[in-house]
This record gives sequence, structure tokens and C-alpha cells, in this order.
Amino acid sequence: MADNEANPVNGVLKGIKKGTTILTAEPFAFVLSDHHRKERCDQCFKSCKISRCAGCQYVFYCGRNCQRKAWPIHKVECPNIKRIHPRILPDAARIMARIIIKLSHNGKEEQGFYTPQKYRVFHDLMSHVMDIKEDMKKMEHFTSLSIVLVEFLPMNILPDVKELLGIFGRMSVNSFNILDTDMTSLGVGIYLGPSIIDHSCKPNSTAIFEGTTLIIRTLCDLPALDWSKIHITYIDILKDTKTRRAELQKSYYFFCECERCNSPETIEIAAACPNKKCTYPCQSTDAHCMKCGEEFPEYFKERFDEVSELSVFHLEKMENTAYLDAARMCLEKQEGVLHPYNLLVVRMLEMALAAAMELERWEDAEMYASQLTGRYLFYFGETHPMTGQVHFVRAKLLSFQKNSRLGLEYITKAAELIKISFGDDHSKIKNEVKPLLDQLLAEYHFGKNGY
Ligand SMILES: [Zn+2]
Ligand SMILES: [Zn+2]
Ligand SMILES: [Zn+2]
Ligand SMILES: [Zn+2]
Repeated sequence: MADNEANPVNGVLKGIKKGTTILTAEPFAFVLSDHHRKERCDQCFKSCKISRCAGCQYVFYCGRNCQRKAWPIHKVECPNIKRIHPRILPDAARIMARIIIKLSHNGKEEQGFYTPQKYRVFHDLMSHVMDIKEDMKKMEHFTSLSIVLVEFLPMNILPDVKELLGIFGRMSVNSFNILDTDMTSLGVGIYLGPSIIDHSCKPNSTAIFEGTTLIIRTLCDLPALDWSKIHITYIDILKDTKTRRAELQKSYYFFCECERCNSPETIEIAAACPNKKCTYPCQSTDAHCMKCGEEFPEYFKERFDEVSELSVFHLEKMENTAYLDAARMCLEKQEGVLHPYNLLVVRMLEMALAAAMELERWEDAEMYASQLTGRYLFYFGETHPMTGQVHFVRAKLLSFQKNSRLGLEYITKAAELIKISFGDDHSKIKNEVKPLLDQLLAEYHFGKNGY
């Protein structure tokens, strides 16, 4: 999506350290996912005391201020949400409606800057209309969205089909998941300036959020700010090369030629060496370990494929809800067959952690978090927000178990990492990290001195 020109910002940012904010942007249009509607403010996404909009009785706000800010767009939605009640608008239809409302209210001219001089307007975003027209699944989705929109939106702002398809394309290809501070998704947004940033499966930058404000931060030191060389990831990078490429092709219509895709690390799909003392990432197609020479048992390849397929099956099934029994069963089967750093193991550990947290089984959760820590360091690197987050979760779980000594160790590390990935002044530091650090410090000293 980037243009080819280099754009050093007047040399000001030349030589950029990791953990530097290189762009912040407000959304052109955004929507809180329906899943969070009753617990968060529709405008700022804060989870706090909220009250219903008196008009539609459907969306909630934290206060007058947010309600006022939301009104220019919501005033068009509000009577129509009420009219179609009890039916609800799917998230994709709602954001598309909001884009259309915005475009009909001077949104066409809104500029999203990515350097002090350079900007994009909504129609500069790639639409991939030709690709979408050939994509049956996408066209089906478009048709069903159009039917909803025709019914929902006032006739005078509804664009013709050609324009509607262009908007649909821009929305599909350029949406950002708006993430909570724990990196879970709260909704989606369109950000004009940041849409310039290309994808890599080994990104040098990442997107984090403060409410709905998008913040692009560097993950490593860079020689200069050149937007054609800044990459974030559009997808979950904890997937093997074949899967990532297929996903990028399907959703973004390009064949990924990033550094990681072009020379994939075999460890992401590796088999475990049958010699328990050997950690070498083996290939299931080999007859013996290339490092220690241990022969693979009979039918090893079949077993490997079977366990891999079973893992993929359960991971897909758990996309919305993780189940501890299923995750644990898969982890057991993976043991000794899949390499511990095989991405199917990593993702299964994520499921097990999520499920154990949901069930408030802190001890189990802590064990899974501890197993994920090293793997996140390997795949995401130290500066990625996910790595800071897993350290933070682990510290929290240790505090639940009253292990303030180890908890203190992890919260200290988490604080260090989160300061890089989120920045010193991010609310995550003030509202989450600092309070837990203070609490663990107090508990630790009390444990040492107290009775
Ligand atoms: Zn609010
Ligand atoms: Zn309303
Ligand atoms: Zn790639
Ligand atoms: Zn070996």
C-alpha cells in the first residue's frame, strides 16, 4: 500500500530507536464490536459506568462528552437503529454505514497525514474491486451487506452499487482491529494515514491503541523513517508460512514476499526429535534427526500429520471460545511428536491459557503463560506488545497465587518491555502496570517483614 517514495520527516526522526512513536491517527470511521456494546462506551471504548442513548436505547456512552462527540455520525444511525429494532446491525454493516454517513458529511475531503506534508483521503485507499468481483465469498458478503444497508440508511445518502462496492473494498482491505491494552480486539476502524503501511510477517513496527487512537511504534532500531520500509503485520504471525500466505492472498489479495515468507524457518512446522535429550527441529519427512542421528520410529510421519491435523481442527473450532479439555488433549498428543516451538503448539498454549483464565484456574494459567513466554520472545521478539503482555499476565497470575517474589520479578520485566512497546506515557503503564508493581512490592516487603 505504500508509495515508493522515501519520506524522511525533514530528517527530524533520522535514526529511530526501537519503541518510538512514528505516527498517531484518529479513526476516519470506527465501530465498537457488538460483543462489547453493553459494557463499553460506544465512542471512547472505555469500560466504565455507561448509560444508554435515550434515542435508540441501543448504544451506550460513558457521559455527555462522548455522546456529543459521537452525535454527528450517530444522529443518522440513531433513528434507523430504532426503526429496525429488534433486528441488530452486524458490525461490518455498521462500520460501512458509518463510512457512508461520514462521506456524505464532508468526509471525502478529510485528510489523514503520515508525514507533515503527505496525506491520504478515503478514495486514495486501495479498493481491490477487480479482485473482489472475482471472489465469490466476498461478493456474497457484499450482497448481503448491501441488502441491510439499503434498508438501514436514508435513501439520499446511499451511494450507487459501483460506489458501494468501492467503499466495501476499501473497508475490507484497510480495516484495523482496534485493540484493547491486552491486545484483544474491541472493534474495527479505518485510519487514513496509517493505511499507507505495508505488511510483513516479520514486522519492524506495530500498531497499539489508546482508546480508538492508533499509535504506530517501532519494534527495532531503524536508520531513518522511510514509509516504504515500515511494516506492520495484517494477520496473526503465529502461523506457518503456507497458512500466512494463503490468508494474505484471501483477505488482502497479494502474495507475501516478505523476508520471513521467502526464507521460512523450518522450526515453525518442525517435528520433535525422538531422542528426548535433543532439541533439534526435525522435519517429519526425514528418516532420522539431522543433528543427533536418532532414527524416527515407524509411521512417524503419519503420526505427525495426524496430530497436526487434529490441532488445526481444534484451533479452528476454538476460534471464538477456548476449551481447556480440548486444548489439554491436543497438547498431550503433540508432546514428543511436534517440536515444542512448532506454531501449532504455541497457538494451543494460547488457547489453554485463555481457557484456564476464563475458568479462573490460576495455577494452570500461570503454567501456560510461563510456557508461552519463551516462545513469544522467539517469535515476536522482546519489543512486541504481545511479549510484554505475556510477562504482565504471568505477574498477575503469580500475584493471585500470592507468589510476590516471582511476581515482582515478572512485573519488573513486564514494565521494562511495556515501556518500550507502549511508551512511558501510555495509560497501560499508569492504570495496569504501576498498580500491580506497587501491590507486589508491598506484598513482597510485607511477606519478608510481616507476620
Ligand atoms: Zn466515552
Ligand atoms: Zn441513539
Ligand atoms: Zn510474509
Ligand atoms: Zn535429534
